[in-house]
Amino acid sequence: MAVATRQGPFAFDALSVTAHVTEKSSGSFILGHLDENNRFIPRFVGRSEADVRGELLFQLRLGKKCNAFTFRYASSPHQAFEQQCMDFHECGGCASLDNARHPSRPSHTKWECPICGLAFL
Ligand SMILES: [Zn+2]
Repeated sequence: MAVATRQGPFAFDALSVTAHVTEKSSGSFILGHLDENNRFIPRFVGRSEADVRGELLFQLRLGKKCNAFTFRYASSPHQAFEQQCMDFHECGGCASLDNARHPSRPSHTKWECPICGLAFL
């Protein structure tokens, strides 16, 4: 499955999310921090099946302590899931991220992680 281009990092606030995530679409995202050298340090990976912008705004309202984000649109919920899995492993998994668990697939699917091959419920 094709992987979309990652966009960002951008400032993680409502104005910036609204300005940069302009399509209502499936997608995946990474929340994190910019360090003193403007290097993006990932803290949390997520996705949305239908509205990645709405999910980012929701994460803002939850008060996630991050000041930057990157995102990728996806052509389908399945692609969003696979991108989130790739982000999860690329960012070091639970050891490096605030994610308590590996990304989970929707219960009505048999999707598997493209990296570790495991099917998490
Ligand atoms: Zn995996």
